[in-house]
Amino acid sequence: MNYNVNEHGYYGDFGGAFIPEMLYPNVEELRQNYLQITSEESFQKEFHDLLKAYVGRPTPLYYAKRFSEKYSTKIYLKREDLCHTGAHKVNNTIGQILLAKRLGKHRIIAETGAGQHGVATATVCALMGLECIVYMGEVDIKRQAPNVARMKMLGATVVPAMSGSKTLKDATNEAIRDWINNPEDTHYIIGSVVGPHPYPDMVARFQSVISEEVQKQLMQLEYRNAPDYVVACVGGGSNAAGIYYHYLDDPKVGIIAVEAAGKGIDSGESAATSALGKIGIIHGSKTLLMQTGDGQITEPYSISAGLDYPGVGPMHAHLFASGRGEFISITDTDAMEAGLELCRLEGIIPAIETSHALAIFKERKFKPDDVIVINLSGRGDKDLNTYIDYFNL
Ligand SMILES: *Cc1c(COP(=O)(O)O)cnc(C)c1O
Repeated sequence: MNYNVNEHGYYGDFGGAFIPEMLYPNVEELRQNYLQITSEESFQKEFHDLLKAYVGRPTPLYYAKRFSEKYSTKIYLKREDLCHTGAHKVNNTIGQILLAKRLGKHRIIAETGAGQHGVATATVCALMGLECIVYMGEVDIKRQAPNVARMKMLGATVVPAMSGSKTLKDATNEAIRDWINNPEDTHYIIGSVVGPHPYPDMVARFQSVISEEVQKQLMQLEYRNAPDYVVACVGGGSNAAGIYYHYLDDPKVGIIAVEAAGKGIDSGESAATSALGKIGIIHGSKTLLMQTGDGQITEPYSISAGLDYPGVGPMHAHLFASGRGEFISITDTDAMEAGLELCRLEGIIPAIETSHALAIFKERKFKPDDVIVINLSGRGDKDLNTYIDYFNL
């Protein structure tokens, strides 16, 4: 079984490019060029130079001693929280902006829900001196004021999406409309392993630097390049794709994906796509998504804004459907407790998305000599208000 994308842009039954006719030229231009451009030596050099000097890579692979002792197993944390801007998202935006430049684009658009991807995009646009327009639901603009301020400081224009529920999917619709109207000079930076082919593969490749580093670091720390398990939280699935990438075809490495159960899988308020989703089309890709009987996308819910997405990328849908990945869902409550526990045991305040991945030890037992690498996808600074309200700090 192949777990990576095939030449037609599919992961098993999932993926493809289900796009309006008018978008075809843009996506096709990308599809025809992305592999060649990104494999050029000059591209790879500029990408890796920036990852090193600007993002701060390689990020440490840290053996979490007290956390490991608590759960009687060996836990390593891949410190993506130490990336510039505080999470893994910037690995992808750097890659895409370099690609956009080589395609001769000088205008960048993006959509954002919680604002994290908008900030990562605005950051690299400032770095490269390119115009940046971020579409964001009007409701999200109000909810995520600090990230809106960050984007503005970085020189981006934040355009409110006023239709529908005024949240992420409406912002996505606006961004797609913009791209259709500006096919020549504009690149659309998608923030996760979602969207029409080639986006899921392209984003996975940019994020694969994470598992590339883990292989080398683990060799030094454990004298082996593969752990027994790799673990990540899954919103759209980009940090997960990054830490799974070089282990997809190694059956000795268990792949664990952690989704947000919100208030409980059966509560009607969750984002546990693998448990609740059915095959459908979202964001131009055939994948698992949460929908009603007649195919309307269900509003997802999670305490963590980054996991609050009704679908998963096609790679993850395939990992789930094929049984290659083990999918676990974690409630708000368990995630918040696990986040606080990491603070107390290791002196690291994780993003609430990441806290979901950290909570698996309550659900699942490991052997004492298992080596587990968890992707610590982001830091908790952005979530401080949620932590404050939750714990009455
Ligand atoms: C955005 C985000 C996520 C979820 O996105 P993926 O594409 O699933 O990785 C997870 N963790 C953090 C810290 C994020 O900012």
